[in-house]
Amino acid sequence: MTRTSKEERMRKLYEEVLNCRRCNLCDGRRNPVLGEGGMDAEVMFVGEAPGRREDETGRPFVGAAGRLLDSLLDHIGLRRENVYIGNVVKCRPPNNRRPRSEEIRVCAPHLEKQLEIIEPKILAPMGNSAIDYLMRRFGLKLASIGQVHGKKFEVEAPWGRVFLFPLYHPAAALYMKDLERVLVEDMEALGRLLARVGESKT
Ligand code: URA
Repeated sequence: MTRTSKEERMRKLYEEVLNCRRCNLCDGRRNPVLGEGGMDAEVMFVGEAPGRREDETGRPFVGAAGRLLDSLLDHIGLRRENVYIGNVVKCRPPNNRRPRSEEIRVCAPHLEKQLEIIEPKILAPMGNSAIDYLMRRFGLKLASIGQVHGKKFEVEAPWGRVFLFPLYHPAAALYMKDLERVLVEDMEALGRLLARVGESKT
């Protein structure tokens, strides 16, 4: 798919999300948050759902957790435009509660379309909601985040081979300082995996 047709499909998907009434989250949101980043990104990060700042701006990860994500990306030499960042659920749940399983279920087709546009080689779900959804989606056995973070799982997607690479959610590291070191190490491992994926293309 060319970059122009990816951009075109993403624009159409944004319109669909804007008009989506599949669950009640659309009633309380200000802006849906589809995602942002490079259309040809090899890594796609998937968070849980927009928070207050994201809801205000329509952009993913622009609050405190987003600042940590930016610095983790910077640490491995990446910028937002080199990756794609999205969420499992596109509208902010009230008071930042966790999205309900039914909300995740009805919102999932939007994420599926997004995945098929970006066609990432590495898919990095951050936090339990995204990890559970994507592990199940690719037929993997569910395990606790403590067991799977920083490990790679090779899966087959409609667009080819993908490495699923679960991470702690950056917001968790803001509350539990010990997790920040873990997240830094996992991000470094992701950077090494990305370099290997890049080499295998040449
Ligand atoms: N937390 C998320 O999971 N996603 C965002 O976009 C922001 C905070």
